[in-house]
Amino acid sequence: MSVSIDGKALAAKLRGELKEKVAAYKAERGDIGLAVVLIGEDPASQVYVRNKIKACEEVGIKSFSYHLPAETSQAEAEALVDELVASDKVHGILVQLPLPKHLNERKILARIPAAKDVDGFCAENVGNLAMNRETIVACTPFGVMKMLEEYGIDPKGKSAVVLGRSNIVGKPMAMLLLNADATVTVCHSKTKDLKDVCAAADILVVAIGRAKFVTADMVKEGAVVIDVGMDRDENGKLCGDVDFENVKDKAAYITPVPGGVGPMTITMLMYNTYIAASRR
Ligand code: NAP
Repeated sequence: MSVSIDGKALAAKLRGELKEKVAAYKAERGDIGLAVVLIGEDPASQVYVRNKIKACEEVGIKSFSYHLPAETSQAEAEALVDELVASDKVHGILVQLPLPKHLNERKILARIPAAKDVDGFCAENVGNLAMNRETIVACTPFGVMKMLEEYGIDPKGKSAVVLGRSNIVGKPMAMLLLNADATVTVCHSKTKDLKDVCAAADILVVAIGRAKFVTADMVKEGAVVIDVGMDRDENGKLCGDVDFENVKDKAAYITPVPGGVGPMTITMLMYNTYIAASRR
């Protein structure tokens, strides 16, 4: 029987610690501000934004929320980002993705300077991560590293396999594990012998968006299995990319869905906002 990594409890603990840090910062330097920009009416995005604003309240970060209509023009969106970049009150800027199709996402995000890029998505922050320099790290992989640390799992010298190569999860995850001295393999939809590659991993991080894709035969006995996926099973119930019931007895550590990686992501966004303010 494996240890279930409790992301919910760790997130609550980190938020408690962060609340104290934010209070100390405020006493000396004033408010920390996070601007959250939502364009359009995507229901999932509205929920994410609400949760981010709630998390800000919980840790004492001031949130500035902007909800623009779906028909917002490129110029209007860019003008808002420019205004937030110029504002002393705003330490971090988050533009909720996806944006409506007619907007050029890349151009809008490119206006956010590295110092206020609390998502850790910009080329400068990603480049610094690749060079193992001080940076702002994408929230989900950052949260995974915190989980490993909390459970005393040191990637050093271990074989780590990252399944998925997206810019927001897979790639930064692989770079963080490499920076932590793991021997890293990145897999994707064109990988050959995927089962064998995964089954050789001491640490297996899965971020592909395929419900219950990873089964026990893809997992090494005693491995650490981190499930980033947020999918729906055949009954519409939230589940991960890993078949939890099937894998849990083989892994030494495993993250559940829900209650694993998910709660860590927003917490690390709060953390990144605090870091951005502290470095100013
Ligand atoms: P994404 O951008 O769609 O990337 C998926 C990656 O998985 C791609 O690299 C793709 O390979 C690979 N892939 C897809 N099917 C595969 C298969 N059958 N075999 C091997 N590789 C396969 O996804 P993402 O944004 O990284 O998100 C991944 C999952 O994590 C989703 O379920 C998402 O909802 C979840 N997520 C959760 C959180 C959280 O806070 N918990 C945060 C972000 C994302 P190619 O590159 O070859 O196409």
